[in-house]
Amino acid sequence: MNAQVETFEFQAEVRQLLQLVIHSIYSNKDAFLRELVSNASDALDKLRLESFRDKDLAVDTEDLHIAVDLDADARTLTVRDNGIGMSREEVVQLIGTIAKSGTAEFLKQLKDAKDAAGAQELIGQFGVGFYASFMVADQVTLVTRRAGEDTGTKWESGGAGTYTIEAVADAPQGTSVTLHLKPADADEQTADYTSSWKVREIVKRYSDFITWPIRMEKQRSEEGAEGAAPEVETVNSMKALWARPKEETTEAELTEFYKHVAHDWAEPLETIRLRAEGTFEYQALLFIPSHAPLDLFMRDGKRGVQLYVKRVFIMDDCESLLPEYLRFVKGVVDAQDLSLNVSRETLQQDRQIQLIRKRLVKKILATVKDLQANDGEKYAKFWGEFGKAVKEGLVADPDNRDAVLEICSFGSTADAEKQTTLREYVERMKDGQQDIYFMTGDSRAVIENSPHLEAFQAKGFEVLVLTDPIDEMWVDAVTEFDGKQLKSIAKGEVELDADDDSGTDREERAKDFAGLLGWMGEHLGESVKEVRLSSRLTTSPACVVGDTHDLAPNLEKMYRAMGHEVPKVKRILELNPGHPLVTGLRKAHEERPDEAGLGETAELLLGMAVLAEGGDLTDPAKFIRVLADRLERTL
Ligand code: ADP
Ligand code: MG
Repeated sequence: MNAQVETFEFQAEVRQLLQLVIHSIYSNKDAFLRELVSNASDALDKLRLESFRDKDLAVDTEDLHIAVDLDADARTLTVRDNGIGMSREEVVQLIGTIAKSGTAEFLKQLKDAKDAAGAQELIGQFGVGFYASFMVADQVTLVTRRAGEDTGTKWESGGAGTYTIEAVADAPQGTSVTLHLKPADADEQTADYTSSWKVREIVKRYSDFITWPIRMEKQRSEEGAEGAAPEVETVNSMKALWARPKEETTEAELTEFYKHVAHDWAEPLETIRLRAEGTFEYQALLFIPSHAPLDLFMRDGKRGVQLYVKRVFIMDDCESLLPEYLRFVKGVVDAQDLSLNVSRETLQQDRQIQLIRKRLVKKILATVKDLQANDGEKYAKFWGEFGKAVKEGLVADPDNRDAVLEICSFGSTADAEKQTTLREYVERMKDGQQDIYFMTGDSRAVIENSPHLEAFQAKGFEVLVLTDPIDEMWVDAVTEFDGKQLKSIAKGEVELDADDDSGTDREERAKDFAGLLGWMGEHLGESVKEVRLSSRLTTSPACVVGDTHDLAPNLEKMYRAMGHEVPKVKRILELNPGHPLVTGLRKAHEERPDEAGLGETAELLLGMAVLAEGGDLTDPAKFIRVLADRLERTL
C-alpha cells in the first residue's frame, strides 16, 4: 500500500500550549506517564462498554490490557492499549485540537502569568493530558485503529507547528503512543525513562489503581538465558480504590486516582466516601477539587461523576447522580444492582439512582459543613472556588435549602475583608433587631455608598452585601433563616426609628409633608410609583426603593439582556424629611407653588436617587442640562 503522508497544522491554541509544554514550565515531568496510562485505561473502558452495547462490533475483548515497552538503545518508551482506538477523523479532532471549553481564557491567563511559578500552577490546574508527552519527548508517534474499522492511522509530530497523518494497513486494534525521548542530559530534571526500574516505580506510584492490567517486561538482569522470550508481568495491583476499605488506601493513592478521574493535575481539596450495604448496594468515592474548572459556568461544561456497575465502567459525566449546583464534584459511583444496560435517559427515572443522588447530596453538604466547623481555611477555599455554583442550589433544590443555606457565606458590612455565614450573622444581631438585612447590587462600593444603607449603619445593624448575579435570584426564593426573615433594605417599608421617634411625631410630619408628596407624585407622574417619606435615610436627601415583591433593578436588567420582555418596574421615591433640600423644597412649594423651577428640582432629586443606587437615568441629557443650569446660577 502506497501510504500518503499528509501534513496538518495544529490549532492555534494547541500550538501555544505545546510551546509551553516543550519549554517545560511543569516540573513534575513523570506526569506524562500517568496521562498516557489514564488515556489507555479510558480507551479500554470505552471498548468494553461499546462491545457490550453493540453485539455486532467485531472486536476481541478477551485480553484487554495496557503495555509499557522500553527500548534503551532507541531511547523510546511506548504505551500500548487494545482499547477503542481512534478513527482518522478522531485523531485529527482529539489530538490536533483542544475541545475543552475555556481553553482560550486559560491561555490568556497563562500569558498574563507573571512568573514561572504562576504559569506552572496554571498548567497544573488545566492539565495538558496527551500533550504532556512533549515534556519528555522531541518526537511522538501514535498509531491507532478504531475497533470495527479496517484501516489504522499513524500520527506523528515533533511538537512544533505541525503534525503528519498517514494511513497504515496493518495496525493492531487500539492505540500505541511511542515517545522518542529527549536526550537524557538535555535537562537535569529529566529522569531516565528508559530505565525499567524507574518506569515501573512511576507506574506503581501513579497508576496502581487502574483496573486494567499494566504489563511490562521483566528487567533484563532477572532474565534467564540469552534469547529466551522476555517474561512479562503485571505491575499494578488493579484494586478498585472505591471498593477497598478506608484503612487500605493511602492519601497518595487517592490523590492519583482523583487526578485520573477528574483529568486534573492538582490535588483534591477533600475526599468523600460513601457505602451502602444490604439489599441495595453501592459505593461512592467522591472528591471536591481544589480549584474550579474553567467551564464551571459554561453551558456545555462537563458535569457529574463516573458511573460503574459492578466494577464495569458505564459512563462519564453521569449528570443524574448529582444536581447541577454540585457539578464540580468528581469521582466514582459503583452500583451493584443496576443493569449494565442503563442509558442516560433511563437513569433519570431510575428509583435507585434517585436514592443514591439524595444520599450523595446530603453527604456532600454535610462534608462542607464539617469543613466549615473544623477547617476554616479549607472551607474558605471551597467557598471561593465553588460558592457561586452552590448558591444556585438555594433556588434549585428546595428540599435541601436549609442545609445549603447553612454552608453559604456572604459579604457583609460587619467586615469588608471577611465573608460571614448566616449563623454568625445571627449571633451578632443587635438587641431589638428582628430581621436579617441584605442588599443586592453590582459591587460592594455601590452598596456601601447607597443611601439605603444610611439608617442601618447609623443604628449599627449589619447588612449582607450581595454582589453576585445569582444573589438576585435566590433572595426571592429564600425568605427566612433560623426563624428570622431575610429582608432587602432596598425594598418595602422600613421601620427603624421606633425608639427615637414617637407615633405622634410621625403623624404630624406626615401632615406637614402631605402637600409636597402629593404634588411631587403628580409632577413625576409615570416615572415613579409613589413618593413617600423615608426612615432609612440620614445624610442623603432621597432614595429609590422597590415594593416588597418588585423585581430588583439588576434582575430586571438581566432578564432584558437575556431577551425576555419585562414590563418596566416603577420605583418608589423616598424623601428624607430631615434633609435641607427636602425641607427647603417643601417650604418653596408652600410659598410659591407655581414657580417653574420647582418641578425641575423634583426631577433632579429623583435623578440623584437613581444614580445613588447605581441605576440608569431615563433622560441623562436632560438631567445634565438642568444640573448645569443650576450650577451656573451659583457662580
Ligand atoms: P482528556 O483525557 O482529558 O480528554 P487528553 O489530552 O489526555 O485529554 O486526550 C485527548 C483525547 O484523545 C481523549 O479524550 C481521547 O478521546 C483521545 N485519546 C487519547 N489517548 C487515547 C487512547 N489511548 N485511545 C483512544 N483515544 C485516546
Ligand atoms: Mg487524558
